[in-house]
Amino acid sequence: MSVLRNEQERRAEHERRVLVIDDDEDGAESIAEVLEVQGFAVDLAHDSKGALAKVEEFKPQVALVDLRLGRESGLDLIVELKDSHPDVISVVITGNADRESAIGALRRGAYDYLTKPVNLEELFQALGRSFDLVRLTLDNKRMIRELEAAKDQAEKLALNDSLTGLANRYSFQTQLDLAINHAKRLGKLAGVLILDLDGFKLINDTHGHVIGDELLKGIARRLKETVRSTDTVARLGGDEFAIILANVDKPENAARPAELILKNLKQPIDVGGLALEVGASIGVSLSPLDSEDRGELIRRADVALYAAKALGPGSLQYYDAELDRRARIQRELKQDLKRAFSKDEFCLYYQPQVDLESNKVIGIEALLRWNHPHRGVLAPGHFIDAAESSGLIIELGRWVIRTACRQSQVWSQKGLQPLRMAVNISPRQLRDTKLFDTVDRALADSGMDPAHLELELTENAVAADEEQASIVLHKLRALGLHLAIDDFGTGYSSLSRLKEYPVDRLKIDRTFIDNLTDDPGDQSICYAAVNLASSLGLGVIGEGVETRAQLEYLRGIGCDEGQGYLFAQPLPAADFERWLAEWNGQTAAEPAEPATAESEPLAAAS
Ligand code: C2E
Ligand code: MG
Ligand code: MG
Repeated sequence: MSVLRNEQERRAEHERRVLVIDDDEDGAESIAEVLEVQGFAVDLAHDSKGALAKVEEFKPQVALVDLRLGRESGLDLIVELKDSHPDVISVVITGNADRESAIGALRRGAYDYLTKPVNLEELFQALGRSFDLVRLTLDNKRMIRELEAAKDQAEKLALNDSLTGLANRYSFQTQLDLAINHAKRLGKLAGVLILDLDGFKLINDTHGHVIGDELLKGIARRLKETVRSTDTVARLGGDEFAIILANVDKPENAARPAELILKNLKQPIDVGGLALEVGASIGVSLSPLDSEDRGELIRRADVALYAAKALGPGSLQYYDAELDRRARIQRELKQDLKRAFSKDEFCLYYQPQVDLESNKVIGIEALLRWNHPHRGVLAPGHFIDAAESSGLIIELGRWVIRTACRQSQVWSQKGLQPLRMAVNISPRQLRDTKLFDTVDRALADSGMDPAHLELELTENAVAADEEQASIVLHKLRALGLHLAIDDFGTGYSSLSRLKEYPVDRLKIDRTFIDNLTDDPGDQSICYAAVNLASSLGLGVIGEGVETRAQLEYLRGIGCDEGQGYLFAQPLPAADFERWLAEWNGQTAAEPAEPATAESEPLAAAS
């Protein structure tokens, strides 16, 4: 098969193919005849479209182009050819011995020109020159290919990375083979540490490659200083470093150098007066415990590195089979999610938000559910991280926003009292440049009043890129919708920043409500959150209210609203409607009367 293809390629290279493009069919035909007698392979086209199709199919090296192609211009065709098939050499034929148009054609990329009526000798000369150029170009390309192969070979032969002087990828592999064998003979371990720098790309992008290169050299030096002289430090490429630890007695002993590396890399590195800071994460695998095969050992260190990075900057992780299993499950989950999305397996549940003073429902939170064909209805905890890291969250989140807006509008058309609809926005969605358009479009398409839409963001989503977040949030808020900080208290948003964001509400995280009635720490946190909200002029909701006692506590400290199983679980749309009717019926019967007895059930709370 490949022999056949090579043979075809070789023949194709030696065949001289000319495409004659002329609207004068007879003229084109007679040129073709002459050329065929001379051993050229010839094909014909009579307009631009036909010519472009023929170029694809016949693959001429040279095109003879008549400048007047009926109503079309041969000049335009030349430009188009130059763009789409830069290797095809154009030779123009001008009808009126017009020097101007010939020069114009040469400027636009034609290689040569002939005048009509075509003089055969000139034609062969022009074609001769054209095919010389074809050969030259081919030779040139071949030479470049050979040079690159030679460079590759040279790198293999060289032992050191030219920038840092560390072992390069090839000598790392050889050294690793040696270390694996050595450890085996001595009944010891060989360790592979793979290192990923945090934030190198950013430094490279902001300070430029020269600084980036110097930094890599600095890191190389620091790594060298940190490990024993019998260990091998290598640069595998880019900002990827690896270390071979020789003669390790027991697995724990690989941790000491790894931790030392992490610690030393945290110290700023001086590059031309700049004190640059990069951290790193490290994945570790050990031979023979994890594998005695070099490739597998490296792969496992990589798996560990991936897990380390998931733990956050500056993490260290040993390989274990569980990591592989988890990685596999994640991969499968991501694929399953994609399938589920295309099969419409997602739906929204709705949970009420209740005003604690009047006992009236004033808001709804839309919560995503996956109707899994085998596992039943799954809450986001089972899949939202995978959707986030695979990027599916963008499309899925778009669907959530659209669906929630549509549902809100359906309810308002049915005559339900207007309720605020809260939609969760993930960190990745917040970074999506199309978020604003998505929301804007969903509002327009559904006809929903923007004042009824609330977007819930976590502190960390906002903190991840404060500047960008602030811009988007202000734009969104200008649409007239509301913004809430979800899971308030669990993230690391700085309080001083809070007042700069255009938010309307804080949602106190469920973890502070759980033990609210007997944990003084949680009580202080809730109290502080309610007061903070009040002094900033924000609304405040307690999440995860499950008991009367929690409810009373929140009411007592002046919390505006509550959300939780005490009122209702998240429900499918139809169930929510029924629940709401029942709730409204009961609160109308006994309005705004704050419940007192601990045992007394709340309206519709069962
Ligand atoms: P969240 O936004 O803080 O939502 C509140 C979560 O608390 C919901 O979990 C809700 O079912 C649960 N909850 C409410 N009341 C109680 C209670 O009294 N007791 C207990 N134990 N739990 C209660 P859910 O539906 O499993 O959602 C979990 C998280 O998933 C949400 O936390 C939110 O961060 C995320 N999420 C949900 N829907 C979406 C969505 O459409 N898009 C995005 N990006 N994230 C979503
Ligand atoms: Mg939420
Ligand atoms: Mg929450």
